[in-house]
Amino acid sequence: MSVSVQNFGSKTVNFQGVTLDVKVPKDGISFTVIGKGNPGEDYYIDSVVSPTGNTVRVRGTQSSKGVLSVQFPNTPKRSIQPGTYKVTLYMFSGQRSNSTDVQFQVLHKQSPQPPTKGTLDLNLYFVGVPGLTASSAPNHQKFKSLMAKVEGIYKNAGVSFGKITYHDVSKDDADELSVCDLDKGEMERLFKMSKSQSNKALNFFFIREIREKGQNTGTVGIAGGIPGPAYIHGTAGSGVLVTAEAFEQQVQFVAETMAHEGGHYLGLYHLTESTGQMHDPLPDTPECPREVGNRDGKKYLIKRSLSKCKGYGIDNNMFWTGDGKQAQEKLSPHQKFVLMRNPLIK
Ligand SMILES: [Zn+2]
Repeated sequence: MSVSVQNFGSKTVNFQGVTLDVKVPKDGISFTVIGKGNPGEDYYIDSVVSPTGNTVRVRGTQSSKGVLSVQFPNTPKRSIQPGTYKVTLYMFSGQRSNSTDVQFQVLHKQSPQPPTKGTLDLNLYFVGVPGLTASSAPNHQKFKSLMAKVEGIYKNAGVSFGKITYHDVSKDDADELSVCDLDKGEMERLFKMSKSQSNKALNFFFIREIREKGQNTGTVGIAGGIPGPAYIHGTAGSGVLVTAEAFEQQVQFVAETMAHEGGHYLGLYHLTESTGQMHDPLPDTPECPREVGNRDGKKYLIKRSLSKCKGYGIDNNMFWTGDGKQAQEKLSPHQKFVLMRNPLIK
């Protein structure tokens, strides 16, 4: 497998749209469009037209964090062919006079045969988790078993770890950000700390707790995008948060969380979303049946719970929630299809 980069430089995106000629090589197995602009500016991919003129639907990370990332194909239901794809993007909102300048690049993944295995490089950042620093982590027994479990989950989809680098943030940053308040933009501040990286690795930030409006809402991890931007460090979306304060007592749960959030960054969606209404685009992952209740004479969707979805994918790592008891380690062949086409998997 190899990845070639098609650089488009800076393009102005406005309500009239801009079209990128994405040139898929003969042995192209996927392409990923990445746009780097300014946070808060909404532009989106309107259409992708194949070399034979078919319009295909795509889903991916939108631009509001200053970075857009869309991988095609992200399901085996779609096939890719060599030739020129026309990818058209528009400015999303505001006045017709609005426009924004965006740096675009397209990562073409190439392989003569459909890939069956690959490696993933990691940059690990330690942000005030007791007992974990860049120097202690590589020899910490519980941390080593945590990493072995994460790799074990990914190996179900043919992915092993490659080069791992270990980093501390400054003491001041660790004091301030180990309890990461989402309302204060602290997650984005952490992800931007990856700016000094130039490797093709996935950035994980180990923190103690995630809060919203000063409260711990029980969120155990967050990915910077689905998929997150590959090869682009230092943006508000360039990383994955993992709460690891209890990693010594909960190796399995923290490992599943880390694999799950990393899975999002690598392009995997929840099998069924918490509302029961949305599903990933993969035919081989189970879906919870849509269960409709009756309240005040009106139909409504019951929030998915682990017990309600027994037998419908709760043992898959990309189930939308976990309880710390049910093991969630599985990845399906179609999830592997997506991972093998992500540029971060070498
Ligand atoms: Zn998730």
